[in-house]
Amino acid sequence: MIRVSGLKKSFNNNEVLKDISFQVSEGETVAIIGPSGSGKSTLLRCLNYLERPDAGNIEVGEVSIDADKPKKAVINQLRMQTSMVFQHYNLFKNKTVLENITYPLTATKKYRRSEADTVGRKLLEQVGILDKQEAYPISLSGGQQQRVGIARALAVDPHAILFDEPTSSLDPEWVGEVLNVISDIAQKDKTMLIVTHEMNFARDIADRVIFMADGYIVEEGKPEDIFDNPQHERTRRFLSKYG
Ligand code: ADP
Ligand code: MG
Repeated sequence: MIRVSGLKKSFNNNEVLKDISFQVSEGETVAIIGPSGSGKSTLLRCLNYLERPDAGNIEVGEVSIDADKPKKAVINQLRMQTSMVFQHYNLFKNKTVLENITYPLTATKKYRRSEADTVGRKLLEQVGILDKQEAYPISLSGGQQQRVGIARALAVDPHAILFDEPTSSLDPEWVGEVLNVISDIAQKDKTMLIVTHEMNFARDIADRVIFMADGYIVEEGKPEDIFDNPQHERTRRFLSKYG
């Protein structure tokens, strides 16, 4: 489903991803945890070439791409395989909630307006905000905005969804409702990679947890192994902050 091997990425002289390899199976939910600055966002962004890796191979579904010879057409194909849910939602402020979801369908997937609206409304119902379809993002709570972000990510029916700290910008009162929506999606056997600082949530929903620090994968394993019996001092030090 997703296979990453030998991924490297530097910004100027700062080597942010140092040699990352891992796989995610179809339907699996993988949580990525680790301190700020360890390269988690860069890793997700490389997976759909929002950042260009310097080295390594990325495979998502049928699409395989080598960092040393990326073809534009293949990059576009790769981008269609995943969708991102961002920390700051990244909604279109001048579009309604429904338009935010239907835009990628009409613009890139060539859906007719009426078909796109049907898909969009179904997803808004799924994330519990169908009544906000005509509203603009500014009038919504953070939790509602992020639920729009999740519905938009689902709309294009990607092979995998990449969540980058989807609850980190939310007031505490909205965190639970967004985590519930993500749990629902995980239960539907969507393939998901989720960067999160919500350790209890990661423990509950992840099939596997990857701990990253300083540009490396330090260890990975089942949630109970990583959280209850970490093998590396670096992992123990990180987890001790979450008591
Ligand atoms: P995390 O998501 O784990 O907090 P990031 O992937 O955002 O980590 O960042 C890892 C390192 O890469 C940080 O030192 C950050 O400053 C640096 N970095 C990330 N994006 C850029 C960029 N576009 N230009 C320069 N440095 C960057
Ligand atoms: Mg980040």
